[in-house]
Amino acid sequence: MKIYIDGEYFDKDEARISVYDHGLLYGDGVFEGIRLYNNRVFKLEAHLERLWNSAKAILLAIPLSLAQMSEAVLKTIEKSGLKDGYIRLIVTRGKGDLGINPMTCPKPTVIIIVDKISLYPEENYQKGIKIITASTRRISADALDPKIKSLNYLNNVLAKLEAIHAGCLEAIMLNHEGHVAECTGDNIFHIKNGILYTPDPSCGALQGITRQAVLEAAEKIGMKSEVTRITPYDLYTADECFLTGTAAEIMPVVSIDGRSIGNGQPGGITADIQEAFLKLIG
Ligand code: PMP
Repeated sequence: MKIYIDGEYFDKDEARISVYDHGLLYGDGVFEGIRLYNNRVFKLEAHLERLWNSAKAILLAIPLSLAQMSEAVLKTIEKSGLKDGYIRLIVTRGKGDLGINPMTCPKPTVIIIVDKISLYPEENYQKGIKIITASTRRISADALDPKIKSLNYLNNVLAKLEAIHAGCLEAIMLNHEGHVAECTGDNIFHIKNGILYTPDPSCGALQGITRQAVLEAAEKIGMKSEVTRITPYDLYTADECFLTGTAAEIMPVVSIDGRSIGNGQPGGITADIQEAFLKLIG
């Protein structure tokens, strides 16, 4: 396994960045998580577009062209020897001084890691998971737009800790108005009376690439979907619920805050969507 840092490749134990890097000091940077399926990078263009948009929003100039970045990603995959895996692409503000001023960082740091990832136990993909609603609210867009996929995940980490303390693997985060935004590292969908629902990005959801792929897959199988405002009540009374994410893929949810979803088993439409998604990645 080799890790790319600023054009050079390092072994995992030798891959290091400066303790003065503002990515470490302030979470000042952006990232992407991307899947590698059977030697093919899933939705690389969409991930690079989101990375570039996140960087633009925080006034960070990525020191590579799109073509150079794609090439670096492919070369790192080749060096990893993996056919299936997970790619973590990180661009930090770079090395600066101990103040917060990003202008003291002349050169962003680019890191590419290719590794395996397993977010949830395999058995949960059949059995589903139980989740809770965290009391930690999603940071509102007027403080830090959740569309920016930044290295600042403390808000999500706090909600994840709530999940762990409640004996769950994931937590729903509401926005400041009490509408459902997303989970700590996944988007959320529910199904009611045959219609698929997911929160609008204006409610604080990341514009997930798996989320988009699911919306497209649903359309292909003739399913109606709505991107809208969702309340905890809508989720509690849903027929089915599932989470989506690059690392999570599609995870059925069978209980939320102690309420069984549907009959408390992963739903049939969720299974159809899982199947459509498998076709897509295959
Ligand atoms: N929301 C958050 C907060 C995330 O970190 C992720 C994972 N990147 C997602 C949603 C899912 O997005 P994607 O499908 O693009 O991985």
